[in-house]
Amino acid sequence: MNLPPEEYKDKFHECDSRFESIFNLTSAPSKIIDSNLTILRVNHALTELIGYSEDELIGAHILDYACEEDKPHWHNLQLEMWKRGKPNFKLDACIVKKDGTLAWVHVTTIMFKENDVEYAYTILDDFTDWKKLQESEDRLTVAIKNSNMAVWELDLATRSISWSNGFEQLLGYRDTEVNWDEQKWLEMFLPEDRIKLKKILEKVTIGQDIDFQGRISTQDGVIKWINFHGKVEKVDRKKKRILGTLYDITRDKLAEREKDDFISIASHELKTPLTALKGSLQVLERMKNAPTPKLPQLLEQASKSMSRITSLVDELLNASRIAEGQMHLKKTRFNLSKAIDECCLHVTASGNYQIEIGGSKDVEVEADSERIQRVIVNFVNNAIKYAPGSKKIVIRVSRSKDDVRITVSDHGPGIPKEKIPHLFKRFYRVDQHGDQYSGLGLGLYISAEIIRRHGGDIGVYSDPGKGADFWFTLPKSGS
Ligand code: ADP
Repeated sequence: MNLPPEEYKDKFHECDSRFESIFNLTSAPSKIIDSNLTILRVNHALTELIGYSEDELIGAHILDYACEEDKPHWHNLQLEMWKRGKPNFKLDACIVKKDGTLAWVHVTTIMFKENDVEYAYTILDDFTDWKKLQESEDRLTVAIKNSNMAVWELDLATRSISWSNGFEQLLGYRDTEVNWDEQKWLEMFLPEDRIKLKKILEKVTIGQDIDFQGRISTQDGVIKWINFHGKVEKVDRKKKRILGTLYDITRDKLAEREKDDFISIASHELKTPLTALKGSLQVLERMKNAPTPKLPQLLEQASKSMSRITSLVDELLNASRIAEGQMHLKKTRFNLSKAIDECCLHVTASGNYQIEIGGSKDVEVEADSERIQRVIVNFVNNAIKYAPGSKKIVIRVSRSKDDVRITVSDHGPGIPKEKIPHLFKRFYRVDQHGDQYSGLGLGLYISAEIIRRHGGDIGVYSDPGKGADFWFTLPKSGS
C-alpha cells in the first residue's frame, strides 16, 4: 500500500519515537556511536552498568572503556564494519567500570544510516555473574583435580552415584567405563570397613552429617585410606541424596602411624637407660653409709645412662627445632682434623675400636664446629652400632676444587641399595622392628639438615656385606 508523502513522514516520526522509548526504557545497556567511534547517545541501563553519567560518556571514545586485552580485536571489528561494509558484528569483551571493577558483556553492534550518515547501535548484554560463576566452578574443578579429592552424590532413591573429576583416579581406575552405583562403590572397601559404611548409609536422615574414614582396595590392589564426608539433603519431593567429598587421607594416616611408632620407639629408647639409671641409684642409695668397692663402677654406669638420656633428649629437641626451621649456625674457622680428633676421643679412649684419621691434616673450614662434630660423631657412633664387628673405623678428609669432603668408613654389613634413599629421612630405621640396635632414626636426618644448612651435600656409598662409607661435603667458599 502506497502512502502519501506526508503520511510517510508521520510514520517515520512514529517509528523514531517508538525507538526512542525502547532505547530509553529497555534494560539492555545500549549506545549509539558514529564512524569515529565517538559515543553520541547512551541509555539509562548503560549508565547503570558502567557507573559513568550520561555527560561523562557522551563524546568519549567507545574503546576508552574496554579492557586492554580486548581493544585490538574490538577495534578490528569496528574497522571491518565502518571501512569494509560489514553490517554488524558481535564479540564478548570486558569493560572497566567507573569504580575500577570489570564487567563482561556480549556486544552486538549494528550499523544504520540516517540522512545518509552512518551510525552504529550497540547493545551490551552483561554476563559478569555467569562469568564469575564459571570462574568459581573452574577454580573448584582445578582445586579438586589437584587435591586428591572428588565430589560425589548418592541418589538415595535409585542408589546411583554421580561424581566429579578425580573420582576414578582416587579409586585407582584409569578408564571411565565403570557404572558406579552404591553396591559397586561399597565393594571397593575392605570387608570390615564396608560393613560399617553400609550400616551408616542404610540409616540416614535428612540433614545428617556423615564423616567416615575407611580403607579401599584400588583397582591396582593398592590399599588407600579414604575420608568420606557428606550431608544428607532433600532435593525435591521425591529426590533425596547424600552430597559430599571423598578425600585420600593415606598420607595423613601413614604420618599418624609413623608418629605412633615413633612415640613407642622413643619411650622404649628412653626407658632402657632410665631403668639402668634407676637401678644404679637404688644400689648407690643403699650403700651411701657404707660404700663398697663397686661404687666407682656404679657411678660410671649411672653417668653412662645419664649421657644416653641426655643425647636422646638432645636429638628430640634438635629434630623439633629443625622441623620448626629454628636451627641457627654459629660459624667459626677451625681445623677439621683437630675437630675430628676431639670428637672421637670417647671412642679411642674406650679401646674397643680403632679410629684411623687420614687425608689432609691442614684443612680449615668456616662452619659451626659443634654441629659438624655432631655429624661426625653420629657417623662414628652408627659405625659402632650397626657395624659392631668392624673394629677399625676410617675417617678421611679430602679436598677438591670446590669443597672439602669427610668420609667415615666401616667394614660392617652395609645397607641394602633400596633402603639408601630413605636413610636421611626423619624416623627412618633400616631394621624398623629390630631391637638389636637402638636409635630414634633421627641421627642422619639431623646430620643431613646440618649439612644442608652449611650448603654442603651428604650421602652414603655402600656395598652390602662389605661396609658403608658415609660422607659429607662443606663448600670451600665458606672454608
Ligand atoms: P638411629 O638413631 O636409629 O641410629 P640414624 O638416622 O642415625 O638413626 O640411622 C638411620 C638408619 O641407618 C639406622 O637405623 C641404621 O639402620 C642405618 N645405618 C646408619 N649407619 C649405618 C652403618 N654404618 N651401617 C649400617 N647401617 C647403618
